[in-house]
Amino acid sequence: MFEVEYPWSASAPNADEAFGPNPSALRHLWAERRTSTMAIDQSGVWRFRDLLPIVADDQIVTLREGNTPLYELPKCAAKLGLSFLLAKHQGMNPTGSFKDTGMTSALSVAASRGFEWVAVASTGNTSAAMAGYAARAGLKSMVLIPEGKIAWGKLSQSMDYGSVTVQLKTDFDGCVRVLNELVQRAPVYMLNSVNPYRLEGQKTPAFEILEQLDWRIPDHLIVPGGNLANCSALGKGFAELKHLGFIHRVPKISVIQAHGANPLFRAMQKDAGATLEPVVAETRASAIRIGNPASWRKAVRILAETGGWVEEVSEAEIALAKAEIGAEGIGCEPASAVTYAGLKKLVADGRVAPEERVVLLLTGHTLKDPEYTINYHRGELLTESELATAPAEERAAMKSLEKKPVVLEANTDEVLRTLEALQRGA
Ligand SMILES: *Cc1c(COP(=O)(O)O)cnc(C)c1O
Repeated sequence: MFEVEYPWSASAPNADEAFGPNPSALRHLWAERRTSTMAIDQSGVWRFRDLLPIVADDQIVTLREGNTPLYELPKCAAKLGLSFLLAKHQGMNPTGSFKDTGMTSALSVAASRGFEWVAVASTGNTSAAMAGYAARAGLKSMVLIPEGKIAWGKLSQSMDYGSVTVQLKTDFDGCVRVLNELVQRAPVYMLNSVNPYRLEGQKTPAFEILEQLDWRIPDHLIVPGGNLANCSALGKGFAELKHLGFIHRVPKISVIQAHGANPLFRAMQKDAGATLEPVVAETRASAIRIGNPASWRKAVRILAETGGWVEEVSEAEIALAKAEIGAEGIGCEPASAVTYAGLKKLVADGRVAPEERVVLLLTGHTLKDPEYTINYHRGELLTESELATAPAEERAAMKSLEKKPVVLEANTDEVLRTLEALQRGA
């Protein structure tokens, strides 16, 4: 698996002789660019272009991605007895997921090399991101997605942005197989997460998090695990900053998987990640419904280097965590909510201490998958047997967050009665 290496990278052959970028000068430059009117300065990815010099400035394709908010989660923090819990919301990117940060970098490379066609296999968000950026660049794009298994919000985006949308009668892993063969036989640039240039853009949220914390290093970053590119990219970002002297240590990076799509969790249990056996993936968190993750070796390395953990969470745990994040006024995709569900387990086991400074990476916008949310609030999301696995207090918490729509006659007295009943706590 390839990785982009610069003359100043720790892994470069003559790294000792290369003059590295100057941390304090760059910190100032990056802050200053925030006030610029130039598109590449306004982008929260390319603002950091000094550490990802992969294309010339005039070849960058940007939708002003990045610059996403770092939110407090006071209710979630209080519930777990933590004093510091923030969410970096990558769902606030132009197409609604963190995939934009990697797509701007990889698609800029594709465009600069003169490709006419780009393609991805996707659980949905990658296709939405690629379609958007390809349209901006004037390239033609094709998405391969598993039929019937992606959320409507994502499917609609790739059509809206003019991509050729192909639904294959297989799962995500089957789509990857077909794409791998396709690019051997046609001049199509592949933008899947094995593309090393995607990781270059995806490492920049690490820089943003540090900027947003005034360069005070968080103790722990928790990410969802699907194809495991995100974990690898953020690990690379923090490691580069440490190598260059921006920071003196890196946060732990932990990965949370859905129980039904947990190949990394199993691999770590079995032999500490020496081998990984693919699984047939099944979870409602469609963005992480991946049985054979491409970047698992990199992820195992990041876990080892940073001292992070892998956890798995059930469908009921994901549903509750998503509702709790929603109740903070933020909302996210089910795949993002695994981070909070996993954090609960890490806290319960004493693997996260109350004084730890924890950041959750929320990967996708809540509007990507409204069907999931509506089914939850109608009490129709989980099966009886899934509910049965949840402890009584979790089921009670889920019930208390359910907000079924109320249907009434168009009569003010009736609405008033409902309001009064709620005020009495009925
Ligand atoms: C792609 C995606 C993930 C999984 O990220 P990986 O890098 O594949 O591990 C998680 N959440 C959302 C919303 C995604 O779009």
